[in-house]
Amino acid sequence: MMNMVESSAAPDVQDWVTSVVREDIRALASYHVPDSSGMIKLDAMENPYPLPEAVRREIGDIAAGAELNRYPDADARELKGLLRQAMAVPPGMDLLLGNGSDEIIQLLAQVCARPGAVMLGVEPSFVMFPMIAKVCGLRFVGVPLAPDFGLDADAVLAAMAQHRPAVSFFAYPNNPTGNLFDADALERIVRNASGLVIIDEAYHPFARASFMARLPEFPNLLVMRTLSKLGLAGLRLGLIAGRPEWLAELDKVRLPYNLNVLTQRVALHMLSRADILDAQAQAIRDGRTLLSAGMSRIAGIQIYPSDANFILFRAPGAERVFEALKRRRILIKKLTGSHPALRDCLRVTVGTPEQNEAFLGALSASLQEVGAGHA
Ligand SMILES: *Cc1c(COP(=O)(O)O)cnc(C)c1O
Repeated sequence: MMNMVESSAAPDVQDWVTSVVREDIRALASYHVPDSSGMIKLDAMENPYPLPEAVRREIGDIAAGAELNRYPDADARELKGLLRQAMAVPPGMDLLLGNGSDEIIQLLAQVCARPGAVMLGVEPSFVMFPMIAKVCGLRFVGVPLAPDFGLDADAVLAAMAQHRPAVSFFAYPNNPTGNLFDADALERIVRNASGLVIIDEAYHPFARASFMARLPEFPNLLVMRTLSKLGLAGLRLGLIAGRPEWLAELDKVRLPYNLNVLTQRVALHMLSRADILDAQAQAIRDGRTLLSAGMSRIAGIQIYPSDANFILFRAPGAERVFEALKRRRILIKKLTGSHPALRDCLRVTVGTPEQNEAFLGALSASLQEVGAGHA
């Protein structure tokens, strides 16, 4: 094994990998992103609206003028200043930026990963929480949500008393269920938590509820946001706000140039044109109302209330409904099989009015086809 490099026989690479790579990493499955070419893509909570032509040209000019031979501003001072205003970060609170909020979740896990440390979350929720916990060597404790996907504060507090998590994550609104947890329940959890609590407000543009303004009340709370769901998923820019004492520790682990030059310049420009993204978020909220009304008229499915830009629904034979939709060139997210509470569940992202109509038609047809196949 150890002399593979010198041996005359060609080394078996898999043996080599096995002897080098951490066993727990080898046991993981990588995050799978399905091929969506030629499909109406309603699987990933993306904003379906392109930017206006004029803004695209402005971005072209910015890219042309960017100094790609230089390293980016490691502290992204200008961008932080504008984000602080745009996100209404309270005075006295700091801001740390990441290459998407996924990177910030990883920073949090890394700084909390003392031997035996625990990350707590609810289930079902964002799959990156347990995934990042495992990679960073934390034990993940998932507390079941109530049957209606509401937050069970007593169960969370009992699990906190038992497992003493260093860090706990709550998506507000939650993904993949779409609901906004009860703010009083969440507050009770933050007040009684053993460690750091992160409220992940990735879907804030569609919810208009937030703990940001309340940061000064809680010494152990950080609030995370992202520009991804607002319409800039491709740019990769996430942020976390909170007390400087916490963020200073995260900043030690952050790689110095995690936000590239183009991301910084384009994000700055887009914040000056925030009116466009806000109008698109409004269109998505309107689209959500119409889509959920349309879905509620379809017999045989159960839809869940959403404060996000997607709708969770239960359809008997979800697996086959998903495949039937795919044959109609519509890609949504299949959740059935990922968690017992999500049996027969599918999740559709709100699209443009045309895409929503296409989805509604295809869903009816797919349900009929699957039902007919059953009879
Ligand atoms: C989509 C999503 C994110 C991801 O964000 P990026 O900023 O694109 O990395 C974070 N949290 C939740 C709950 C999400 O659904």
